[in-house]
Amino acid sequence: MKKYDYLIVGAGPFGATFAYEMTRIGKKVLILEKRNHVAGNIYTNKQHGINVHVYGAHIFHTSNEKVWKFVNQFVTFNNFINAPIANYHGEIYNLPFNMNTFNKLWGVIKPEEAKKIIEAQAKKENILNPTNLEEAALSMVGRDIYEKLIKGYTEKQWEKLCTELPASIIKRLPVRFTYDNNYFNDKYQGIPVNGYTELVEKLLTGIEVRLNTDYLSNREFFDSMADKILFTGAIDEFYEYKFGVLEYRSLRFENEVLHNVDNYQGNAVVNYTSKMEPFTRIIEHKHFEFSKAPDTIITKEYSASWKKGEDRYYPINNQENNVLYEKYKTHASQQHKYIFGGRLAEYKYYDTHITIEKALDLVQKELTEKV
Ligand code: FAD
Repeated sequence: MKKYDYLIVGAGPFGATFAYEMTRIGKKVLILEKRNHVAGNIYTNKQHGINVHVYGAHIFHTSNEKVWKFVNQFVTFNNFINAPIANYHGEIYNLPFNMNTFNKLWGVIKPEEAKKIIEAQAKKENILNPTNLEEAALSMVGRDIYEKLIKGYTEKQWEKLCTELPASIIKRLPVRFTYDNNYFNDKYQGIPVNGYTELVEKLLTGIEVRLNTDYLSNREFFDSMADKILFTGAIDEFYEYKFGVLEYRSLRFENEVLHNVDNYQGNAVVNYTSKMEPFTRIIEHKHFEFSKAPDTIITKEYSASWKKGEDRYYPINNQENNVLYEKYKTHASQQHKYIFGGRLAEYKYYDTHITIEKALDLVQKELTEKV
């Protein structure tokens, strides 16, 4: 007899949601987490009275009623709305590109005026079949928006020139002809009032979690403990990279505590769109929660290349990596003891609400297959 029905590798939102639902229906689960904390990449940690988003800024947003109801059982969300701004050589522009941006760029007031300028600028480039990202962007939004708000930021993000990047990276550029600075179009949006870690801790109430425990360091032993294993880590690492390494982009964070500065930049997220500054954005964490703390904490975010063994941030879903991932996926589908889920095991960028939705779907799938 195995001691557990499920051994879950990873205490991020995927593993925690799956664990909660399975425990609720009477299954016995054990979670292993290699870090010294739960919550995966949505982890927040209170410093100087401010919840710091340790692995990058996270804004929860969804239009999925089921997911919204699910998370609201555990925590209360505030009414934070993401309205980032861009700083280009000291000029401030609203994002996503909208009438406020166009008014600042060209002094236009009416949507028709903005449309005309964008269309005229895009037409002037005379690009019918874009062969790289620069051409794609110019043909969609014209030169002013491209030069001031896209070029430098994108080149910093990828550490490559826009002329060297494939046009396929930007399939479309959201342009809004309303005075609406809300970055997301979803029905619900916010940040848990006490940070994201509380959400995951509540999901895991009463569930056995072993921190600082890497499943891969002793997998035979851990496998012997449970009927099934849910793995939410990187799928290529699980299979010892036997088909090759799946590539990622990485991030580097520089945190600064600014004592007796109650408001450093007036907004949670400021993107730096010129190459004058080496970082892509500055996050001021207290603005996510309307904090009145006397100090502030800022994080400069740098885009970085990724090497095997480092934290994985953004999957590079190009043709080559996707083909490689399919090999792992096919291989995995033949091993019924193991199930794979979450952003690392599925090699996809998933927002948190999608991660939770996928975990809930997986629970249903497991239960249906069992019957
Ligand atoms: P993770 O959160 O990565 O959790 C996986 C866990 O598994 C980790 O804790 C890891 O330590 C553990 N693990 C891995 N291997 C092992 C092993 N061998 N043994 C034991 N433990 C292991 N989403 C939003 O909705 N809004 C946002 O604004 C947003 N911003 C983001 C910004 C950035 C920079 C990034 C990269 C992502 C962002 N996301 C955002 C997405 C969000 O981070 C993911 O949806 C979420 O983290 C996915 O959860 P997960 O459980 O699949 O993976």
